[in-house]
Amino acid sequence: MKNKLLSIKNLKKVYHDKNDEILAIEDVSFDVYEKEFISIVGPSGCGKSTILSILSKLEDKSLGDVLFSKDVTIGYMLQSDSLFFWRTILDNCLIGLEITGQLNDENKNYVLSLLKTYGLYDFKDKYPRSLSGGMRQRVALIRTLALKPDVLLLDEAMSALDYQSRLAISDDIYKIIKNEGKTAIMVTHDIAEAISMSDRVIVLTKRPAKVKNIYDIELTDKTSPINNRKCLEFSTYYDQIWRDLDVHL
Ligand code: ADP
Ligand code: MG
Repeated sequence: MKNKLLSIKNLKKVYHDKNDEILAIEDVSFDVYEKEFISIVGPSGCGKSTILSILSKLEDKSLGDVLFSKDVTIGYMLQSDSLFFWRTILDNCLIGLEITGQLNDENKNYVLSLLKTYGLYDFKDKYPRSLSGGMRQRVALIRTLALKPDVLLLDEAMSALDYQSRLAISDDIYKIIKNEGKTAIMVTHDIAEAISMSDRVIVLTKRPAKVKNIYDIELTDKTSPINNRKCLEFSTYYDQIWRDLDVHL
């Protein structure tokens, strides 16, 4: 039985500048179920990040409903890993706990166990500069997980990395999120990344965003993001979403 965690209904967002109004989101509705991995794809500037900002309450909605079925803690992961270069890996992972006054032995041990499980324990006393981009992104994920969020929002979290690292880190991030039993909503402009990682892909129109299509991603032999790219149905989804996003049609 799938439990609905979040229902977004007729979401609309208008930004107000000094003397201007920008309609960023016209009408977006979709549901998210517990432990689902959802991707939102759409052209640059269409309003993807705005949806995540509204979900995390950084921005107010203009109209519509955003209904969570229970109290949830939200973790936000951005494109840049934004690790502090003067802090060790462990201290970077602990910063959210420090800021929110939750740094105790239990939570610190949880972070240490995450570092162990995900191959970063030997680097815990090193500084970010000695890690690869992919490893730093894994540290950023552990820093986010330290606060035990129910829902993870990922905004183009892999796009600053080169192609090879992006493939590898997509696999890592996917496994960590699934292992830890989290619900994930990922924004990306990378169609292949979206299909390979997601249970469902929400395709948006160009700004102002409306939902163009929603795809349940059903792949035979669904295993890991890298392998999913080799599945038979992968290219069919890719072509459909590519066509959805074609501005010339
Ligand atoms: P995406 O993430 O899909 O690239 P965004 O959600 O960042 O798009 O932005 C959607 C639109 O809203 C863009 O036209 C952007 O310029 C505008 N916008 C985003 N944030 C603000 C803001 N704080 N104030 C005014 N306009 C904004
Ligand atoms: Mg964005």
